[in-house]
Amino acid sequence: ILKLENVSKSFGALKVADSVTFAVPRGEALGIIGPNGAGKSTLFNLITGNLLANAGRIEFLGRDVTRAPAMERVRMGVGRSFQIPQPFEGLTVFENLLTAAAFGRGGREAEMVEDCARILDETELLKKANVVAGTLSLLDRKRLELARALATDPQLLLLDEIAGGLTEGECKALVATIRSIHAKGTTIIWIEHVLHALNSVVERLLVLDFGRVIGLGAPDAIMASKEVREIYLGLEV
Ligand code: ATP
Ligand code: MG
Repeated sequence: ILKLENVSKSFGALKVADSVTFAVPRGEALGIIGPNGAGKSTLFNLITGNLLANAGRIEFLGRDVTRAPAMERVRMGVGRSFQIPQPFEGLTVFENLLTAAAFGRGGREAEMVEDCARILDETELLKKANVVAGTLSLLDRKRLELARALATDPQLLLLDEIAGGLTEGECKALVATIRSIHAKGTTIIWIEHVLHALNSVVERLLVLDFGRVIGLGAPDAIMASKEVREIYLGLEV
């Protein structure tokens, strides 16, 4: 569903994506790990079109989208959550979803409303539908961030550190939701530092370091590699 070929991006002298090449088949859940500043969020920005690559090629659904504007990619089915949730604080949860739906998928209003109600249910936000986003707990903000991405009707869902900062119980609940979204067939790429959460969902792990892919494979094999153990030294793996 997604293919990156030698994608590179620099900010001045700083190379944050260095000839990144990988492909994600439809239906897969791929995890991305790597140290702070490795270029993980930047990679998402390149996939969504929030940033344009300096070199290389990005294909989505068999189409070259390397230069395509972000809006076009959302409409094609690239949905994302942001590392720092950015809901419209003054709007209710439901209004936030409708806004995302109107922006990201369009269509008839009745259909969008129906869709948003289903997504609220899926993300366990139904009871909070009329709560103003700015007053939500961290877990519910994360859920809303996920729900807003789903409201754009994505075929490819990009999650940026959605499990960070949650208690173990909250994290478990969110992971269950993500797993059920994946089970319904949505392709997922998930950047995460909470490795036990990530590894309980993804089929493969990609390791990014200084903008370079230094590992890609089954989570067990990746976690056992020396390079990854060095990066995550002292962390729970
Ligand atoms: P983290 O785990 O902390 O979220 P990350 O892997 O997501 O890190 P990025 O946010 O992709 O890292 O940033 C990679 C590098 O690029 C960092 O050194 C960052 O400071 C730099 N950077 C990111 N965006 C910009 C920008 N718009 N202009 C200049 N430098 C940037
Ligand atoms: Mg990041």
